[in-house]
Amino acid sequence: MSSPSTQPNRTTARRELPLSLPLAAGAHPDAGTREAPFSYECGRCNRCCRDRIIQVNPYEVLRLARAVGLATGEFIDSFIDLDRMALRCSSDGTCVFLGDSGCTVHADRPLVCRLYPLGRIVRGDHERWVVLPESDGSEGTFGLERSVYDYVDAQGALPYMRAADACHAVLEEALLAEDAAQGDATGDEARWLLDVDSLVEQQGDIDREFSAYLEALKTTLVT
Ligand code: SF4
Repeated sequence: MSSPSTQPNRTTARRELPLSLPLAAGAHPDAGTREAPFSYECGRCNRCCRDRIIQVNPYEVLRLARAVGLATGEFIDSFIDLDRMALRCSSDGTCVFLGDSGCTVHADRPLVCRLYPLGRIVRGDHERWVVLPESDGSEGTFGLERSVYDYVDAQGALPYMRAADACHAVLEEALLAEDAAQGDATGDEARWLLDVDSLVEQQGDIDREFSAYLEALKTTLVT
């Protein structure tokens, strides 16, 4: 990988592009749909795997745990920073899963890794997309050749987006129920929420287990 100091100023180059998506810091409330023109070519510099908080939800923990051959509780003990509900980093800020040849869990990497350099913001039924601040020294190349949808589909992000939305829907319902009953939000800890195997039996199929988990979560939190 080349030193950042030898690279052209990609951030400047990006800002000069006629991006139809807003940069995150100045995101416009109605800008950035799935149809917006967008393309991005990864420079394989792995800069986006450093100095970032990679938050994870139960689906992502389940995928990653199976990828490394662990139960979700064991995975959490080894790889999760529960204060942030995020993947642990090494002391130099590098993601715990970054190896010499790149991501060691690439096929099961979390949603935020798949979406980078995009961010997805969901409010109720409304979804919008922004371009995140670029990692220092990033060698990726922005363009407008395709669309946001094409990009996230090619990254295998759609099942992860559906899982995130499903989780969010259950938690939102639980919070509403809790608010109605006690005027307070649930106090369930991150570990309990992320430890899928503690709530349902392992079923040898991630999608089936996650569906059972959502049902169990709903039963536990809402009813
Ligand atoms: S999970 Fe993989 S892609 Fe995501 S930050 Fe870690 S090393 Fe990078």
